[in-house]
Amino acid sequence: MVRAVVEERRRCDGSTPVRGPTLPTLNCLSIDVEEYFQCAAFAGYVSRAQWPSMERRAAPFVERLATMLQRHGSRATFFVLGWNVPELAPLLRQLVRQGHEIACHGDGHEHLARLSPQELRDDLRAARARIEDTLGVSPRGYRAPTFSVTRATAWALDVILQEGFQYDASIFPIRHDRYGVPGAPDGPFWAITPAGARILEFPPLTVGWRFMRLPVGGGGYLRLLPGAVVRHCLAARQRRGEPAMIYVHPWELDPGQPRLPVGRASQWRHRVNLHTVEGKLEALLREFHFEPAVTVLEHVRARADLPVFSVLPRLPGA
Ligand SMILES: [Zn+2]
Repeated sequence: MVRAVVEERRRCDGSTPVRGPTLPTLNCLSIDVEEYFQCAAFAGYVSRAQWPSMERRAAPFVERLATMLQRHGSRATFFVLGWNVPELAPLLRQLVRQGHEIACHGDGHEHLARLSPQELRDDLRAARARIEDTLGVSPRGYRAPTFSVTRATAWALDVILQEGFQYDASIFPIRHDRYGVPGAPDGPFWAITPAGARILEFPPLTVGWRFMRLPVGGGGYLRLLPGAVVRHCLAARQRRGEPAMIYVHPWELDPGQPRLPVGRASQWRHRVNLHTVEGKLEALLREFHFEPAVTVLEHVRARADLPVFSVLPRLPGA
């Protein structure tokens, strides 16, 4: 992994020209505001009908993240699960007052492969209504649960666009068993939808290594990798004049969360290195500046050289 970073730095320092205006300080830290039991790993064990009876633990960790951000003079994008909005309303209003962006993480946290276009539309409308009615702000960005915009669910981009979202942050440009669009650009890009429209996409931070693209910017990857490796990757991205997207969940700051009866692999994936997240975020916030995704994208959207990528590859002659 360290070699991957060295390779990336060499590539960035040497052969890759800086594209467009230099953006040395604009990065995005995003927080998917969900409870630990809403995580996809537990979907088979905790149904949505059981959510109201589960212990809520997210609020103090969202508050702690906001305090850290304030201490370092950075602002973030909070992708809020609509279902959680009423309960977290006072805290979310405080985030709005502090200049953070409230964006949308859907309402029921269903992987898009399990939804029809109409069900996604209903889910987005429910979440938007809760955010707008409760907080008085309109979400402009969307992140699908489990980064589940893939080639198989590319239809979702048209629904997201039609439902009034200006950008999406759901495409992970890697190969993975549950998500990912291998070959997608690693920085912000225009995604061409199956209907031929386009929407701004802001993928999480990854690093190129040989013929592979490896995730580094959040979740289990951020927890497993040494903090220095993540910071090296972010610095390399900055030298290219490209913004980076980091993501984290409130439950990742909560090593005391209850253990749910899932298999050992899921348990490990969910809990590994939870105790390291706060320190790693502190170090990132000390070294780099973060702004909401909507602010970062405002700076890059006018770039003539912003990559354009069709999520569904066009068939010859089509
Ligand atoms: Zn989520």
